[in-house]
Amino acid sequence: MKIDIRSLTVDENVTFKDAFKITSRTLRTAFVLDKNHRFCGIITDGDIRRALMTSAKMEDPIKNYYNRDPVFIKDGKLNKQDVNPEEVYIIPVLNTDDRVIDYKTPKDLRRVAFVSGITGQDGAYLAYFLVKKGYTVVGGYRRTSNCSFEKLKRLNILDKIRLENFDITDLSSIMRIIEKCEPREIYNLAAQTFVQISFDEPYSTSMYTGLSVINFLEAIRLTDPSIKFYQASSSEMFGNTDQPKQSENTVFRPASPYAVAKLFGHLSTKNYRNSYNMFCASGILFNHESPLRGLEFVTRKITYNAAQIKLGLSKELRIGNLKAKRDWGYAYDYVKSMWLMLQQDEPDDYVIGTGRAYSVEQFIQKTFEYLNLDYKKYLTIDETYFRPADIECLTSHPEKAIKKLGWNPDVTLLDKLIKIMVDADLDYLQNKSEVKVEN
Ligand code: GDP
Repeated sequence: MKIDIRSLTVDENVTFKDAFKITSRTLRTAFVLDKNHRFCGIITDGDIRRALMTSAKMEDPIKNYYNRDPVFIKDGKLNKQDVNPEEVYIIPVLNTDDRVIDYKTPKDLRRVAFVSGITGQDGAYLAYFLVKKGYTVVGGYRRTSNCSFEKLKRLNILDKIRLENFDITDLSSIMRIIEKCEPREIYNLAAQTFVQISFDEPYSTSMYTGLSVINFLEAIRLTDPSIKFYQASSSEMFGNTDQPKQSENTVFRPASPYAVAKLFGHLSTKNYRNSYNMFCASGILFNHESPLRGLEFVTRKITYNAAQIKLGLSKELRIGNLKAKRDWGYAYDYVKSMWLMLQQDEPDDYVIGTGRAYSVEQFIQKTFEYLNLDYKKYLTIDETYFRPADIECLTSHPEKAIKKLGWNPDVTLLDKLIKIMVDADLDYLQNKSEVKVEN
């Protein structure tokens, strides 16, 4: 790769865009222009430069070509003493034909993600995934008496993320976080997520799960509309649908206060995308489970109780509606789709699920079979777990996510998911709490 930087020296005839065309995407350098768009240096990311020198067996390309020492970006931050504050920094984003499609400032280079709901199952797995990708992860949580970082500890990532106390019902609290942490991506996973509780606490569920989404959208609009936003929508929004499989085009018929609130958040996300041209994506995720799923959800309740029975710590599993069918996947596969949605050129909505549904009874049977137990000996039907309205069956149609995101719903099928959960629960009950992430 040869770059003739001399064509860039302060030459009034080189147009702003022409100047950028010769920047290489792989090189990830940026021209430093002054306020009149005159070239006065370059900046580059030290790691990328090193990698390039190794792969292309080059001498230091920056010094060779630019005859000026580069200014390094370290952890996304410019080294202050190397920088003239009067200079402006603009990074061209090139497509595969090396055509400029966008300009960014160094701020955009930093991979900082803010994840609300960091103490939950999805927050913990997403944080794990993003940390592995090299992100600085800021996790938002609400300081309450029962606030616990147990899931982050079980994934062994508590010391790898930055925690920030905040309140999703308070716009100023979210704006403060954005100003302080300058995230490029925000994942809103915070909510009251348990359907059954939403019947007992409809008002607070509407506020936490629904209305608060507006606070994120408004905070982004008012502070930095270039931040990408992910909203955790839910298959519960489909309710008792007449479609055998549910896609992005299926009509929503929410059947619980939780689902009504999620639908509000979903439609608001779409509305901000369309009204303000903001990058707001929403993932309509079908049930996704893991060893970190709360014990109040049926799958974890089953695997945990079955493990207890196996170890002689319990004799019974008390369950509600056995006939309800759900499309259950593995949470770690699903958080990958959240990230993929924010890496697309255009924001959109995506259904994420395996495309296969099983009944609660089938889940119980498979779990007990895995432990060589006869589930019928331990099962008790308990009316208290029935809901005022329940959804009989949910099955995803994830074609769009497969085609557009390249997301693979076949990574973890039900038998493997049950094995992951039961094995982890057996360990947990025997004081081995670390959870291995299966890829
Ligand atoms: P949801 O789909 O988000 O509501 O996830 P859950 O895991 O809470 O419930 C899935 C299905 O399991 C629902 O149709 C419940 O009615 C049914 N179910 C049957 N017994 C139980 C139980 O003991 N606890 C829970 N949480 N759900 C149960």
